[in-house]
Amino acid sequence: MEKTITVLPGDGIGPEVMKGALRVLKAIESRFQHRFTVTEMPIGGKAIDETGNPLPPETLEQCKKSDAVLLGAVGGPKWDGMDQRPEHGLLQIRKELNVFANLRPVKAFSPLADISPLKPELIENVDLVFVRELTGGLYFAQPKGRSGSDEAVDTLYYHRQEIERVVKKAFELAASRTGKLTSVDKANVLESSKLWREVVNEIAMSFPDVKVDHMLVDNAAMQLVRNPAQFDVIVTENMFGDILSDEASMITGSLGMLASASLSEEGAGLFEPVHGSAPDIAGTNTANPLGMVLSAAMMLRHSFHMNEEADAIEMAVQEVLNAKFRTGDIQTKKSRVSTTDEMVEQLVYRL
Ligand code: ATP
Ligand code: MG
Repeated sequence: MEKTITVLPGDGIGPEVMKGALRVLKAIESRFQHRFTVTEMPIGGKAIDETGNPLPPETLEQCKKSDAVLLGAVGGPKWDGMDQRPEHGLLQIRKELNVFANLRPVKAFSPLADISPLKPELIENVDLVFVRELTGGLYFAQPKGRSGSDEAVDTLYYHRQEIERVVKKAFELAASRTGKLTSVDKANVLESSKLWREVVNEIAMSFPDVKVDHMLVDNAAMQLVRNPAQFDVIVTENMFGDILSDEASMITGSLGMLASASLSEEGAGLFEPVHGSAPDIAGTNTANPLGMVLSAAMMLRHSFHMNEEADAIEMAVQEVLNAKFRTGDIQTKKSRVSTTDEMVEQLVYRL
């Protein structure tokens, strides 16, 4: 298959981990006979330096006409206090690509059980995915703001259509996995959650093979620590998803391991690691490339429908960890520390 990918390395460790992901994609190209045409464009701080704009129109145009977008990370102290903010480039591109469904897998890789704050027996079988609504809810709706110094307001608004499109994605994902979906809301007090629950129940009728349950968000927060292996796909609104997915991310034990996908209805999806630009370790060849590499695997799976290829990458990650190769962030006393490049070499060798 031929696919076009816009690559936005960004700032800090972004370019270092992106280089690793591109080497892994090259290995996939030759093993599975695909052709990926990669166009690299600036975003964030790098784009501010080059053009004065964190999301130059040329970058946006290239993203819109490609099949998928891979992003490293943006930001850093160099741009603190400037009028133009690198992070605006990221918010803007999410908005322009209309990526309303944010997927965050949380998978406990068994060799990493020793760095998780949870007990090994609790995390053993954890393999879940959050589907977070990304463009609506409390963070965006009007009215919003301050009136005088004593009053402030935010509005939790959802239109049925905004709920439908993200819930539908979650059902499709659940159907492609184990057929189990948990919808998280606060329907005992919030009207928006009552609507959310209604829509979930309606869409459920078109997916007879998916078993749905509803869970209140406070209970979900507790269950994620008490017994995370009970979940498979979790769908929820923007703010609940923001908080719960950060909570659950600790199951794996490192930010450097986590991937994400942001999907739209038809157009290019955006795939990026959960971590930021990590300016404290940028340029030292010590960053964990696995979050970025696993984001590239999500691109293959969710945008290109290349499941076998994505599985191959995930399996290579598992094998590299089994063989005790680790960057500093996932190191234990017993393991020696590998560089970013060494981790990537080990992956490529196995692919
Ligand atoms: P942002 O605001 O961009 O999200 P942040 O301040 O939340 O950034 P990160 O840049 O993700 O955080 O870094 C948080 C900490 O985690 C830093 O100490 C960083 O070095 C470490 N870190 C983040 N990503 C990685 C990685 N891929 N490999 C190793 N360490 C990492
Ligand atoms: Mg952060």
